[in-house]
Amino acid sequence: MTEVSSPVKVALVTGSSRGLGKAMALRLAQDGYAVAIHYGRNQAEAEKVAAEVQAAGGRAEVFGADLTVTANAGTLVDDVIKAMGRLDVLVNNAGITRDTLAIRMKDEDWDAVLQTNLSSAFTASRAAIKHMMRARSGRIINIASVVGLMGNPGQANYVASKAGLIGLTKALAKEYGGRGITVNAVAPGFIQSDMTAELNEDTRTAYLAGIPLARFGQPEDVAALVAFLASESAGYITGQTIGVDGGLYPH
Ligand code: NAP
Repeated sequence: MTEVSSPVKVALVTGSSRGLGKAMALRLAQDGYAVAIHYGRNQAEAEKVAAEVQAAGGRAEVFGADLTVTANAGTLVDDVIKAMGRLDVLVNNAGITRDTLAIRMKDEDWDAVLQTNLSSAFTASRAAIKHMMRARSGRIINIASVVGLMGNPGQANYVASKAGLIGLTKALAKEYGGRGITVNAVAPGFIQSDMTAELNEDTRTAYLAGIPLARFGQPEDVAALVAFLASESAGYITGQTIGVDGGLYPH
């Protein structure tokens, strides 16, 4: 593969057409990265995010890939490197829920969530690490969830995928620290987005009662931590899982 060299650092945020991923991409663009905006189904929304970056004088390119199909995540990373010349930061953010009690959970609901949230993060990371090893530097940031640490009824598939991401983070941090690559996980709590808008009022009220900072988070709260972990300042932090949850689950 011929890679076009680029002096500007490149960040890929999976699932950046909406929600938390969009806020991360916009924040990384503000911090001077050229950003790869990725979408699954919402190409038009991804194009809008890219246009917002470009209007502010930044560089953004749009890539589509269905991450339910695990192999697509590796191809996505290769495509970004080919088109944008390098990859310095990979944020594995794309994620889905298929909530129901375990006894009612269909195999396809288990598989879709594990493939999208965990297996695709592995495949993307594997492709990114091969490139980052040559550069002897890189940042991988996995967007887990507070429920991956504390568990949650009705979300066996989602919780398992997020706990798996935390384990993957620790393993990759140990494997590739010597190559200058840091791997960390972010565990958001209750953040306002399309995903949490689906929750019913009782669940929202119950969560709010358990949050010491007495408010739900904003996507920008999570993006600020991602930007820090991507930065040079975070160079001695690896293998960690850091919460952005208003104090919901200190660990
Ligand atoms: P969201 O608003 O539902 O957005 C999900 C993003 O993932 C979208 O950009 C979507 O792309 C992409 N995506 C979903 N399925 C995909 C697939 N099969 N292939 C490719 N892309 C796919 O979710 P969010 O709330 O921003 O959550 C982002 C991440 O944070 C997720 O990993 C989630 O588990 C985690 N998180 C969120 C919260 C929260 O409170 N919101 C809390 C903890 C953790 P398209 O729309 O283009 O298909």
